[in-house]
Amino acid sequence: MSESSLENLYHEGRAFPPPDAFAAQANVSDDGVYEQAAKDPEAWWAQQAEHLRWTTPWEQVLEWNPPHAKWFVGGQLNIADNCLDRHLEAGRGDRVAYYWEGEPADERRTITYAELHEEVCRFANVLKARGVGKGDRVAIYLPMIPELPVAMLACARIGAIHSVVFAGFSSQALADRIDDADARLVITADGANRRGNTIGLKEAVDAGIERAESDRVSTVIVVNRTGTDVDMVDGRDVWWHDVMDGASADCPAEPMDAEDVLYILYTSGTTGKPKGIVHTTGGYLTQTTATHRLTFDLKPETDVYWCAADIGWVTGHSYIVYAPLANGATSVMYEGTPDFPDKDRFWDIVDRYDVSILYTAPTAIRAFMKWGTEYPERHDLTSLRVLGTVGEPINPEAWMWYHRHIGGESAPIVDTWWQTETGGHMITPLPGITHARPGSAMTAFPGIDARVVDIEGKEVGNGEGGYLVIAKPWPSMLRTIWGDDQRYRDTYWSRFGPDTYFAGDGAKLDEDGNIWLLGRVDDVMNISGHRLSTTEVESALVDHPSVAEAAVVGRADDLTGQAISAFVTLRGTHEPSEDLEAELKAHVAEVIGKIARPAEIYFTPDLPKTRSGKIMRRLLKQISEGSDLGDATTLANPDIVNALQQAARGR
Ligand code: ATP
Ligand code: MG
Repeated sequence: MSESSLENLYHEGRAFPPPDAFAAQANVSDDGVYEQAAKDPEAWWAQQAEHLRWTTPWEQVLEWNPPHAKWFVGGQLNIADNCLDRHLEAGRGDRVAYYWEGEPADERRTITYAELHEEVCRFANVLKARGVGKGDRVAIYLPMIPELPVAMLACARIGAIHSVVFAGFSSQALADRIDDADARLVITADGANRRGNTIGLKEAVDAGIERAESDRVSTVIVVNRTGTDVDMVDGRDVWWHDVMDGASADCPAEPMDAEDVLYILYTSGTTGKPKGIVHTTGGYLTQTTATHRLTFDLKPETDVYWCAADIGWVTGHSYIVYAPLANGATSVMYEGTPDFPDKDRFWDIVDRYDVSILYTAPTAIRAFMKWGTEYPERHDLTSLRVLGTVGEPINPEAWMWYHRHIGGESAPIVDTWWQTETGGHMITPLPGITHARPGSAMTAFPGIDARVVDIEGKEVGNGEGGYLVIAKPWPSMLRTIWGDDQRYRDTYWSRFGPDTYFAGDGAKLDEDGNIWLLGRVDDVMNISGHRLSTTEVESALVDHPSVAEAAVVGRADDLTGQAISAFVTLRGTHEPSEDLEAELKAHVAEVIGKIARPAEIYFTPDLPKTRSGKIMRRLLKQISEGSDLGDATTLANPDIVNALQQAARGR
């Protein structure tokens, strides 16, 4: 095995074809779609773009000046018009856009497309009255309440650029993002609900504006969500309900160029300082709607679709707001956490709304595994027909748990690999075709050219691992990093040349050429000259019946170069012990080989994660080596880091 690639240790023989009845009704049931799209990707994407309403047709599908792409050149459309007006005109105004469910269980709202349209138009007029126009940046710092999609769509309607900042971030993180995007207006709420408590948001905004270097924020619009006492700054702060009162519901949608900027969104910061990812209009909506329709087999007339992410992340932008609305879907939107008031909240929601498509993250699935099957068993989940995951590799055993206990062993699972940068799904099963392997994202979406290459950029063979790259531009790709095109070039388009996108993730091809994501290239471990991925060792740990979640890192070791430190969270009633530590080490050695045997295992009730729920291995490595922690501003649970630091010092 050469230094330039990655070892392939984990073998998964199980495969799950779609049930015949599912395949028979699927939006895509013929795998000729892959060949058709590969033959002429531009024609394929143009065909997908025809699903949208363009006010001016495009002249050219793609203009590619590596590493800068323009899609649907010369075309014009408005995203809010596509998400709202055209449904009303087609007689779908009474269709439910969102079943919104507050964290307090008795707070529910049903919002139709007609109602959403009216709110968006009124709020767009509010923004205009405050001097916001095309190209201006608006920062949005809101919890998961209907005003959040309303604010985003109002920006899209008038051509303002939104920058949504996850409402769990600190005032410093908000200040950094206000400065970076040079936002002039901020939309927030007095507070947010969190497990029965309220968290002050407006006070974080006040502190954020104070900390920001820019003094351009001239307006703060505040939603009254929790009835929390707030200081309203004279001449700057206004209440949402006051400014909406009397605002006209007549606001024509601004025709936007296909390449006009729709939004800026900062990456979740798993690997370092977040990057302001820039997405534009026509290509973005084309790919997000196509993937939403085909990956989830969406039937907008009958499905109830629930993406349980937060709109503060790209998953929520693309698959709670823009794609579902443009596709005329009915969605559930939930404000709170999965364990409030009890650990069955998700299943209560699925049962009550008859959710048919559920999209969540491996981190949530592993939490459900940790809590045990009694919670899903309390509810009728038979309405579910497609399950999705995104955000991290899903360990095969977590996949199996999802399949058995949530999907009733019949709902296809789509493990979707993509990034803030890619805007939409890139590698995913298609539920009516794919014989899914637990733990694999399987196949590039039609029209996407994903490859696994070695350090020289040469494609690896089946059964080998290397670097994941995208070899052709795609419609919903990022266009640049806001204010830093050089960082855009350096980060994504320099490692393998200016026309190959480097994703930063490791991957392997199995014997049949299916793609398996192996975690960050930066996290690859080097044990006695063997390059091992974190994902495979973690999946071997999660394969043990006592383990819910695991993270491994390579820490410096005099003898082997690096040694594997493992951090493990146990399922249900299992207790840490020296015997169990020995058993887990032996289990890894047996499942994938002695070389991957952890040198030590730390048992921990939780792992350090970003606020989007991703494991921060970078911090674990620093903990296991006793070195200083780098940028931890996006860390969700600092207490765990302190506890683990103490445990590591005790070793
Ligand atoms: P930063 O780039 O600031 O470090 P981040 O990469 O965590 O943050 P995101 O864009 O939210 O921010 O996450 C994209 C990453 O998530 C991918 O590069 C990949 O590592 C991981 N990922 C997402 N979906 C999957 C999946 N289905 N399987 C494996 N990994 C996934
Ligand atoms: Mg990233």
